[in-house]
Amino acid sequence: THFGFQNVPEAMKETLVKQVFANVATKYDIMNDVMSGGVHRLWKDHFIRTLAPTPGTKLLDVAGGTGDIAMRFLDYCKETHGDNTAQVTVFDINPNMLEVGKERFTKTPYHETSQVSFMEGNAEKLEHIPDNSMDAYTIAFGIRNCTHVDRVLKEAYRVLKPGGRFMCLEFSKVENPVISKVYDVFSFDVIPTMGQIVANDRDSYQYLVESIRKFPPQKEFAKMIKDAGFTVMGQGYEDLTFGVAAIHSGFKL
Ligand code: SAM
Repeated sequence: THFGFQNVPEAMKETLVKQVFANVATKYDIMNDVMSGGVHRLWKDHFIRTLAPTPGTKLLDVAGGTGDIAMRFLDYCKETHGDNTAQVTVFDINPNMLEVGKERFTKTPYHETSQVSFMEGNAEKLEHIPDNSMDAYTIAFGIRNCTHVDRVLKEAYRVLKPGGRFMCLEFSKVENPVISKVYDVFSFDVIPTMGQIVANDRDSYQYLVESIRKFPPQKEFAKMIKDAGFTVMGQGYEDLTFGVAAIHSGFKL
């Protein structure tokens, strides 16, 4: 690869991931739309409907980036329950992404209310988040960028209240061989080229595609969630768009 990412030592992965997201921060939202043809919006809406938060829910949105999930969560609470007591903390390792998120919230009714806050830190160690303090934990398109996924899951378990729910939205594996072929061409050729054209940054998008390939398939990831102590319903995940993405979920009981 341009970055030789497959061969980097674990200790360097965190630094490289930070660099990638610092590079893409300002173009991040538009690139999501360009690369997915807007489908990421439908996935995220479905993700929040599946979470189905009740009034007053306290959510920790890890790898929250520019606040896309947080915004949808608060909008859902307002529109579905007329609730303005739900709270979300957008947690991310990258200050550039958080800055874009903060800026975005200034134009909303949530700005400068206790409904939204931002926190910088590593998903592998949620330092300032107490045990048993959250009703829900979400991580969307973030966990595959973490070096130790097992530590991320363990921390998610620690901070959730008993009865709390862990939910992860992530790119996953397409099983159908025909669709898989089309998807390969799209991701290996089209996405880096779009990154070059729209964001003038082929390497960062090349990395993003490779990180998707390296992430464990649905069943393996569901097992990791169980191993972290969560109780899962059924097989523990739902495929979206032929498995291009999947929602994994578990309860701390
Ligand atoms: N959740 C947002 C969304 O769905 O639009 C942003 C997803 S973006 C692809 C991935 C985010 O994960 C980036 O903002 C990046 O800074 C963050 N990230 C990567 N490694 C992380 C870590 N170890 N801890 C916390 N955040 C991390």
